[in-house]
Amino acid sequence: MSHTPDLPERFVCKSCHLVYAGTVVGSDGETHEFEAPGECAACGSTAFVPIEQYIYDMKA
Ligand SMILES: [Zn+2]
Repeated sequence: MSHTPDLPERFVCKSCHLVYAGTVVGSDGETHEFEAPGECAACGSTAFVPIEQYIYDMKA
């Protein structure tokens, strides 16, 4: 039984802070891998950070 909910990982644009759902890039049936979008549709930035890291940075 997995302890991780099967939800898409989310990524935050480091430039304009828009949040994107990750794209599934791989799956072994139990876990999924997610990848940030290639570039931000709003500002064109290619720098993304996983939302868990983003929240951590905001609290630090
Ligand atoms: Zn952006």
